[in-house]
Amino acid sequence: MHRHATLVFVFLVLALAVRDVVPPGDLGVTPESVARMRADLEVIARETRPAGSSANVAAREYLRDQLLGLGLAVQEQLWYELDRELVNIVTRIPGENPEGALLVLAHHDSVTRGPGAADDGVGCVAILELARELVAGPPLAQDVLLLLTDGEEIGMLGARTFRDAHPAMADVRAVINIEAMGGAGPLVCFQMSQDNADLARAWARTPHATGSSFAEVVYSLMPNNTDLTRFLGRAPGINLALAGGCSVYHKPWDTPERVEDRALAHTIATLSSLTRSVAGGPWPDELAPARNWFSVPFIGVLDWSETPTEWGLLSVLGLLVVLDAPGTRSRRALAILRGILLALGLLFVALLPAFALGFIFLYTRSGLTGPTSYGEVHAMVALQGLWVAALLVFLGRWSARRPERAELVLEASLGALLVASLAGLFYFVERLGLRGSDALLLRAACTASAFAFLAAQRTHGGARWIVALLLLAPVLTFAPFLAILPQIGSQLEWLAAAMGAALWALLCLLLLPLLVRHADRPVTSPR
Ligand SMILES: [Zn+2]
Repeated sequence: MHRHATLVFVFLVLALAVRDVVPPGDLGVTPESVARMRADLEVIARETRPAGSSANVAAREYLRDQLLGLGLAVQEQLWYELDRELVNIVTRIPGENPEGALLVLAHHDSVTRGPGAADDGVGCVAILELARELVAGPPLAQDVLLLLTDGEEIGMLGARTFRDAHPAMADVRAVINIEAMGGAGPLVCFQMSQDNADLARAWARTPHATGSSFAEVVYSLMPNNTDLTRFLGRAPGINLALAGGCSVYHKPWDTPERVEDRALAHTIATLSSLTRSVAGGPWPDELAPARNWFSVPFIGVLDWSETPTEWGLLSVLGLLVVLDAPGTRSRRALAILRGILLALGLLFVALLPAFALGFIFLYTRSGLTGPTSYGEVHAMVALQGLWVAALLVFLGRWSARRPERAELVLEASLGALLVASLAGLFYFVERLGLRGSDALLLRAACTASAFAFLAAQRTHGGARWIVALLLLAPVLTFAPFLAILPQIGSQLEWLAAAMGAALWALLCLLLLPLLVRHADRPVTSPR
């Protein structure tokens, strides 16, 4: 097949798959707005305020009074549970021609171990600031319901009580939940309901939108839930959380000082923009099915649809690129088979020792109970990273010494591409449950397709930087999960070692084509 035809096909498929590329806009948040949020935070998050505590009563009365001060009608939904009085704060900002309401919520209680400035003080003060903005501006088309829930940390009680017992629930057409795992920005989108196409589009247009469908996979591994869980299946929902600086999560030092100004700014910017676009117009006639999404720094949000057609196209593309590769001109079937075996072999050479290293490290430190501190998982991840770095250095040197052998490595990359593309077939399996991981496969397949094509052209010199740029997207998508791993490590137990190894192996495979030196012989030379 002609090479240019492949190139055209690559770009056609990519153009089909990427529906939206949204450039990051200006945050448009004033210093006064951030200062107001910080002042609110200082009041509500000085001490721990678990549900039912006097500090919690003081905090929620402060939040209520701030809303009353804006001239809003505020309701307190009160009930008794677990031997304590629990109170949700509810207020409605009327729209111009409302046909329902957007529900925006955060929880006002904290854990008993810490003052919860980030979790979820930031959510509360962001909702206050949103109320100030909305009251000061022209009305939106739809109603906006603001809900500050009680008892989230002891079982999402407030969200459940609102859902089951509050009359306003009947109006809810979409849900935005603000949470936190840390006090540093940006505000990350880590979960959306299945019927999310319209929400995904609105979120992608928020300033510096940050997030990834892959985060849903990580989130699903965590034993955590949020208030949004209570609304899934009832209305389309989106879950946003500060994910940086997560060493403060549920700790005594989750104080206002640890919350960054930038985090506050990005939180209100995202919340404000999202609220305006969701409640600013009519509701969609029908809910459109799920879309995958991930953000690329400096570029914006790539919004991937997941239709079987595109998956089919990608799989065909993978095959075409492999068949078109120089190393596979003759004895194609054999070469492809060898490529697949090499790719799998390489994956295991990266994976198994990394897993063994991590497992042995964790075992000698804390036995089979799994990691007991963030530091332990950090050390384990670093150890695994050292192994993968050493492997990459070795492969790079080896391919420089034996350029003719490097062709085999190139085939390995192409084999990986084929594996990734065929993995698209799992699309139909994925539909049964785990969403988010299909985004992972799609991304792997698309990126592998693009780089394999360029590699097949035997890129040298400057062109290698194009390959590097293409690889930046998946590398930047996966690398942050190594940083989140310590956070969830203690819940994963020995699986923490497996997850670290898997992430490192994936990064290794992605970086490989950059290291391979190609043989300087004619493309058409017979083998
Ligand atoms: Zn929380």
